Parts: sequence; structure tokens; C-alpha cells
Amino acid sequence: MYKMSEKPLITATQIAERLDTLAQEIKAFHPEIILSVLTGSYIFTADLSRRLSSPDLQIKFIKASSYGCSTKSSGKLEVSGLEGIDICGKRVLVIDDILDTGCTMESLAKILNGMGASLIKTCVLLNKESRRTVDFHADFVGFEIENEFVVGYGLDYANNYRTFPDIWTLRDENGK
Ligand code: 5GP
Ligand code: MG
Repeated sequence: MYKMSEKPLITATQIAERLDTLAQEIKAFHPEIILSVLTGSYIFTADLSRRLSSPDLQIKFIKASSYGCSTKSSGKLEVSGLEGIDICGKRVLVIDDILDTGCTMESLAKILNGMGASLIKTCVLLNKESRRTVDFHADFVGFEIENEFVVGYGLDYANNYRTFPDIWTLRDENGK
């Protein structure tokens, strides 16, 4: 069994404040299309995109399932939803919830690079730098966190906890 931390790791207020500044950083890049990686980033994407509010900013949702790291190709990442999305010549902002090992974003960036975007920048709500196994860095990061399992604000454990407004740490009963 798992239990939640007594207090949120990051409160809804802290998230809202950071999103205000993050949106300013992103605006300077003038993205034309957002590719949001479901499901964990759905709330983050909604809140951030409202702060970008540009009339010609498009938004599309994709799904990515990672089956571990692949050093040579993106063969271990299954991406769905890219069919029919035209990013050719566009400035693309990829939004994901967490950068953990980095495998998902690294593979996804390779795939998108092959689709002819003019520029691809990546944005994650949370970065666990200490967990990185590949050489990948996001262009925009909401918060740096330690190696902890987090839920809430769209992030799940077995599809639960997503609707909590704050971000919480989940530990097993022995505190691990
Ligand atoms: P990566 O390929 O970077 O290792 O995997 C990143 C993905 O793993 C994230 O998009 C997220 O779906 C999942 N993930 C990694 N750490 C956590 C965490 O602490 N909590 C939750 N809910 N998902 C996580
Ligand atoms: Mg994910």
C-alpha cells in the first residue's frame, strides 16, 4: 500500500505562480503548435496554454508509451495520434508532465525532428535530473524535484490521484 505525503510537495498556488513566469519564457519562442503528451500533462497543458493565449496557436494531443531506453533508435517508444498532424515548417512546443529517465522525450524529439518541424522546443512540468539515463534536457522546466514518485495535478498512480489540484509525494508504508 502507498500513502501520500502529509503536505503537498508543490501547492496549486505555487504551480499557478510558476506557470505565469513559465508562460513568459515560452512566449519569447512564439510556438505555432503545441503537442501535448497525454494523459499526465492534460491539466498542465490546459493551464499553460491559457497563459499563452495566441490566436493562431494550435494544440494537438498525442500518446507516448515508453518501453525503456533505446540507444540507437526510437524503436522502444510507441507514439499514437501523430497521424494527420502537420508540423512541417512549424515552431513546435512539446509538453509533457515529467522528465524522468528522459527516454520518452528523447525518442519523441527524434521522431518529430524527422517530420520537418522548423524548430522543436520541449517543456515539462517537473524535472528529476538525478534520474536521467540519456543526454536530454528540456528547454522549459516548471520545477526541479528529487527522485520521488509524485501524483496529482494530472499525474497518476494506477490512474488514481489525477484530479488533485496540488502535487503530492507517494511513498510505500515503510516510507520508501
Ligand atoms: P521517462 O521516459 O522520462 O523515464 O518517463 C517519463 C514518464 O514516466 C512521464 O511522462 C510519466 O508518465 C512517468 N513518470 C515518471 N516519474 C513519475 C512520477 O513521479 N509520477 C508519475 N505519476 N509518473 C511518472
Ligand atoms: Mg508520460
